[in-house]
Amino acid sequence: MLRSIQTKFTVALLSVSLTSIALVGVTAQGLFLRQLNSILAKDAFDQFASDVTAYYTAYGTWEAGQNLEPFDQFVRRGCWLIEATPTAAHSEALPCPPLTLDEAAADESAAASGSLDNPPPIVTSREPSPFQFVLLDLDGTVLVGAEQYAEGQAAPAEIWRQRQDITVAGQEVAFAVPVRQRKLAVVDKTYLQAVRTAIGYGLILATGLAIALGLLLGRRLSRSLQELIQAVNAMGRGHLRQTVTVNTQDEVGLLAIAFNTMSLELASAYEQMHTLNQTIQAQANTLQELSNRDELTNLHNRRYFNNHVAHLFSQSQRDGNALTLMLADLDNFKRINDRFSHRIGDAVLQAVSTLLKQHIRECDIVARYGGEEFVLALPDNNAQQGYQVAEKLRRLIEKHPWQQLHPGLQVTISIGLCDDTTVGSHEQMLACADERLYRAKRQGRNQVIAEGGDGERD
Ligand code: GH3
Ligand code: MG
Ligand code: MG
Repeated sequence: MLRSIQTKFTVALLSVSLTSIALVGVTAQGLFLRQLNSILAKDAFDQFASDVTAYYTAYGTWEAGQNLEPFDQFVRRGCWLIEATPTAAHSEALPCPPLTLDEAAADESAAASGSLDNPPPIVTSREPSPFQFVLLDLDGTVLVGAEQYAEGQAAPAEIWRQRQDITVAGQEVAFAVPVRQRKLAVVDKTYLQAVRTAIGYGLILATGLAIALGLLLGRRLSRSLQELIQAVNAMGRGHLRQTVTVNTQDEVGLLAIAFNTMSLELASAYEQMHTLNQTIQAQANTLQELSNRDELTNLHNRRYFNNHVAHLFSQSQRDGNALTLMLADLDNFKRINDRFSHRIGDAVLQAVSTLLKQHIRECDIVARYGGEEFVLALPDNNAQQGYQVAEKLRRLIEKHPWQQLHPGLQVTISIGLCDDTTVGSHEQMLACADERLYRAKRQGRNQVIAEGGDGERD
């Protein structure tokens, strides 16, 4: 599915950053709410405690206050502003004087008749408290109820355990227990919304950044690897010397350096091996050539001839082409050695070899067959053509200025040839040529015999 590194990189970055932002967002929101809760709880308690303190301060005791004015009305009149004072005597100087008995009675009758001319002022500037409190007296009886805790009932244990002191002039007068029914104020909701918006923007920003970074870094990484892949493929095609660009110092960079070194070493090792191989091949060729050559005359030797004549013979059999084989033997060569020395004999062999080589075709084969014997194969030559070649060679040797080699030196050659490819093998053809050579010798030497009289040898 995700095939390119670039895509994988982008997706990985994206998931990491989105997960981080989501985690941070959730944690931040949770922490914010917790912090906000605890601040609000403290503020609410302080506010409630100040209301209760003011009530006690204004009326002396809870019961006295209840006779004159309910606690919630007292609060709505804005009397939380009354500061705690040691005695109720100072209360007349306070901004929110307590109601007298008459006022209270008047209020009560007005309320009863439904025509309250002078209702207590309602203070609305204070934000409604996000918490409600249950107020308990020192014995644990509910003075102000909330939620399921009704006024007058004895406080259950779970409420009693959470009680917090309310003191008036250093004296514990009641306990308050918050009932966790949080109602966020408008401003708190605004703060919370701001946090959520900030997290949302963070998410969008992080997504953009992750995509951009993923594409950028992924492309860089993928480009380096692509170059490496191309270089490896090129090596696979035989181009061993490859160099990739080292862009970074990270693992990919190190890989590129290692690859360059390896490619260089491999290429030079291959070149060395190639050179060595060529040398070995050349030496093998030289050895092969040497093993096929006669040292004195530099003509091909008998082994080479046998290998190749077999091929020529089968080719002529297959294609029906003519083939003439020729055996030539220097006349009275022993006498030449004896009369003019072995060295002159060698020189004669070399000169005859050169003459033979120079006056045959490229496709013909000439080899030193033995001491002073030579063998020739003339493809596509019948007896008549072969005879002409043999005669030409015989005359060339006879007419050669041998005196230049040694005064009185005279060299002739006898030749027997065979063009009968029906005899079955090249060995048979050579045997036939040998017969005729023998006849040439017997009939006086320095001549060519190309036909007839086979089997006359005794
Ligand atoms: P024919 O006319 O009957 O061939 O007589 P021939 O003397 O040529 O033949 P024979 O076989 O009697 O003598 C061949 C001589 O060739 C004997 C040998 O010493 C000589 N010979 C063989 N190889 C070499 C060589 O490499 N160098 C020299 N100088 N002489 C060689
Ligand atoms: Mg001989
Ligand atoms: Mg001879």
